[in-house]
Amino acid sequence: MSRLLTKLSLPTKSTLRVSAPRRIWRCRRRGGSQYSPAWMRVLNPAKFAGLAEGDAHVIRNAGGRASDDAIRSLVISHKLLGTREWFVIHHTNCGMELFTDDVIGDLLADNLETAKFDGKTWSNPKHGHGASAGQFIKWHTIKDQPSSVVHDVRRIREHPLVSKNIPLYGYIYDVHSGNLVEVTEATQAGKPR
Ligand SMILES: [Zn+2]
Repeated sequence: MSRLLTKLSLPTKSTLRVSAPRRIWRCRRRGGSQYSPAWMRVLNPAKFAGLAEGDAHVIRNAGGRASDDAIRSLVISHKLLGTREWFVIHHTNCGMELFTDDVIGDLLADNLETAKFDGKTWSNPKHGHGASAGQFIKWHTIKDQPSSVVHDVRRIREHPLVSKNIPLYGYIYDVHSGNLVEVTEATQAGKPR
């Protein structure tokens, strides 16, 4: 962890609070399934990046993906609140790797209550009263963590409302070792232009 902080040259806390809140973008999962708790835990990015209250704006969503709404928050964070660099951080053992758009769409079409996961397959304990709306949503699931980090950094970099001066970095948080591992291809793609 100290290596990361050195590498990113974290300014002192007071500097951060005044002019450079850092963006850590993390994925959030809530429990509900009986699968291994590793991906259900709500991870605390401020804690694992060694940040104190007020050091960063943290935007969370399922998978930590660069959705339209995440980008909306990022743009406000820079334009009106002055953040100067952004980090996209996904994590290992993410629940978003465990299903596809078809799987969740079909589960929801059948029934809306919490589904079960047996380590391989999702199933509904109850049936009926589902809704097909889920089959028309892009859920931003993850096939491969490094690729999804690169994809998200690239999408933010190319967004017309994102200043070309903001450096973007891509990382994966290893939930077992506690290390933040840089995705160099993402950081490369996120360089200011
Ligand atoms: Zn996750």
